[in-house]
Amino acid sequence: MNARRAIAQDPVIRQIAGGEETAWINPNCLPFAATDPLCQLVVSDADIADAEQRLRRFAPFIAKRFPETASSGGIIESPTLAIPRMQERLEETYGCRIPGKLLMKLDSHLPIAGSVKARGGIYEVLKHAEDLAIAAGRLTLEDDYAILAEEDMRAFFGRYTVQVGSTGNLGLSIGISSAALGFRVKVHMSADAKQWKKDLLRSKGVEVIEYADDYSRAVAEGRRQSDEDPMSHFVDDERSVDLFLGYAVAAGRLKSQLDEMGLTVDRDHPLLVYLPAGVGGAPGGVSYGLKRIFKDDVHCFFTEPTQCPSVLLGIATGLYERANVHAFGLTGITEADGLACASPSGFVTRIMSPLLSGEFTVSDGRLYDDLRLLYDAEKLQIEPSSCAGFAGPRGLLHYADSRRYCEEHGLDEKRLSNALQIVWATGGLLVPEEIRRSYLATYL
Ligand SMILES: *Cc1c(COP(=O)(O)O)cnc(C)c1O
Repeated sequence: MNARRAIAQDPVIRQIAGGEETAWINPNCLPFAATDPLCQLVVSDADIADAEQRLRRFAPFIAKRFPETASSGGIIESPTLAIPRMQERLEETYGCRIPGKLLMKLDSHLPIAGSVKARGGIYEVLKHAEDLAIAAGRLTLEDDYAILAEEDMRAFFGRYTVQVGSTGNLGLSIGISSAALGFRVKVHMSADAKQWKKDLLRSKGVEVIEYADDYSRAVAEGRRQSDEDPMSHFVDDERSVDLFLGYAVAAGRLKSQLDEMGLTVDRDHPLLVYLPAGVGGAPGGVSYGLKRIFKDDVHCFFTEPTQCPSVLLGIATGLYERANVHAFGLTGITEADGLACASPSGFVTRIMSPLLSGEFTVSDGRLYDDLRLLYDAEKLQIEPSSCAGFAGPRGLLHYADSRRYCEEHGLDEKRLSNALQIVWATGGLLVPEEIRRSYLATYL
């Protein structure tokens, strides 16, 4: 299937190629039981549990190096909040109906990196550090990992380089965590990257290399330079299983939070989750973890900018990493810098193809409208990319295709009124004050 044929055959792809806001329901989505054996071969429950344990081992180091995590004992986690005022404001503003309880997962406020990248990005750096230190006989699994903060360990890690290609937030998470261990760090940044993110990284001693080109180019160049250096590790956003595992750990943590809040998920209390997607790794890993826990009771939808729906196109056409938004006549240009990836991850689009319920696309203007609504309603400010998730609850009962999805999946009035709908907020904590103010006045 090429882009031209997909546009000719599928009316929804035609709308998407026209840059319209719409809902796309994934025709490849299967009942969980039909996906289980094959998925477990790629990323198993044991792999996710192993990642969770690794993060626990590192907790004493994290607590020591990043005092802002001391209250959670060095576990990097964010709150989950009900946002009833935002739910009301969205309904009033868009004339839509949002059934059930609207919640927000505040990965926008994750410590250290201020974005969802504090899950996958930091996890991969920690795993790499552990692998190196154990191989060199400087660490055992039984040690108190706080020793990794000592000066001789920093000197040890200083012989190694970590590199990454990024539109911004992944660079921040890799840069800050690698520098904390003592690694040398190079971040290859695309043209979409915001200046404040480059400035912040440079202030931490990170080498930032800028490209006039898009994200795929920054990744390819970073990968090439890293491959030439035997002492260098490349964090590969388009291919890494470790990144994916770091994100997947979020699911069990969310389940514990919902349990503590007394919120049930089962057939009669479905969970609907809306996650902004760039290359797909963060929303893919989180969704994958959620599907493993909640199976058919969770419905995962990604949200992408109208000009850059690369994950949607990769899955819808079966082109996977070969899908490129430009081939569909889209610009790939968006204010949502965290989502500005013209081609998706091949690994994630493949593994999510039978698990993803669908997608909602959102225009840049709406991101800022929702950013302001959220600020007015809940006094929470997040970055524009992070607002893409609101397209989900607004869209679910608005579009005929997503209404049909609900009918076909037993999401009737009664169950929807018991539903939990979670907007996954993905970034915002580190945005400087003057830029926050300018966001409140953009696209007015
Ligand atoms: C990176 C990012 C995403 C999406 O993650 P991918 O792994 O690229 O799909 C969403 N929102 C924000 C703010 C991000 O930084």
